[in-house]
Amino acid sequence: MSTPTQFSIQTVGIIGAGTMGNGIAQACATRGIRVVMVDISEAAVAKGIATVTSSLDRLIKKDKMSAADKIAALELITGSTSYDALKEAQLVIEAATESEGLKVKILQQLDNLLAPEVLLATNTSSISITKLAAVTQRADRFIGMHFFNPVPMMALVEIIRGLQTSDATHEAVKGLAERLGKSPITVKNAPGFVVNRILVPMINEAFFVLAEGLASAEDIDAGMKLGCNHPIGPLALADMIGLDVCLAVMNVYFNEYNDSKYRPCPLLKEMVAAGYLGRKSGRGVYSY
Ligand code: NAD
Repeated sequence: MSTPTQFSIQTVGIIGAGTMGNGIAQACATRGIRVVMVDISEAAVAKGIATVTSSLDRLIKKDKMSAADKIAALELITGSTSYDALKEAQLVIEAATESEGLKVKILQQLDNLLAPEVLLATNTSSISITKLAAVTQRADRFIGMHFFNPVPMMALVEIIRGLQTSDATHEAVKGLAERLGKSPITVKNAPGFVVNRILVPMINEAFFVLAEGLASAEDIDAGMKLGCNHPIGPLALADMIGLDVCLAVMNVYFNEYNDSKYRPCPLLKEMVAAGYLGRKSGRGVYSY
């Protein structure tokens, strides 16, 4: 049994046609890679394909894609509600709702269905790759592929090696990310991987600075934009991500690393308790 290489991956299966799933489908299909995208209902599959279609239409409007290329890309995407449709894939990327129980169930179902050489990847943001790999019979062929939102625009993919991931699996998946035009970085499995591990504690620290009255929210954000060349300040970014999401992530680090340096800022907790969740609730650090 030989591990597929980046070159032998012709068809990618995707579980979940939501925000990330349809973005990954678009990234694959526009690079000539066949996609089978599976979700739980016909409506979810249709919505995922409609999202790709309108995203490609926007590229055409901006003169970044031809109408012929749009048709060619859409022809490469098949939607289904049956996991059986994934049998042609050399790699299946799981991008379903973030729930450990659900992911374990999906991965075990895939593991039983797919030929043993097929590679399995997950797009999880917060669940241990090593732990998810261990629920399958192909832990060496299991890896994290953490894409960023919106997938077609964002160059980064964190490739996360579980303790069991083989070198061949890592090489194949990293190579595939490059075929998608992405710039992958390789990370060992640990809570938050690299980007969120650094980003979310920085946001938490911005809440401490705000709570201590060292500067106004506007000045904290201006400081980080002008002083560090960040495109957006940490507090405005917290409002975009959702204060509840930032708090949940800090709680994961605090519990998993058993380290007080990840203590969530009390002001962040207070604001979440008040329902000030950011843009989605109309009020966070700023009002919308
Ligand atoms: P989403 O809610 O937009 O989409 C999830 C999709 O999974 C839904 O369409 C749902 O119907 C489908 N689904 C649920 N159970 C399923 C099953 N058994 N089989 C097939 N499909 C099923 O969520 P999303 O934002 O696309 O997130 C997906 C994954 O990507 C999560 O693990 C999340 O942590 C991760 N992620 C999200 C982002 C982001 O910014 N949204 C960024 C990086 C990683």
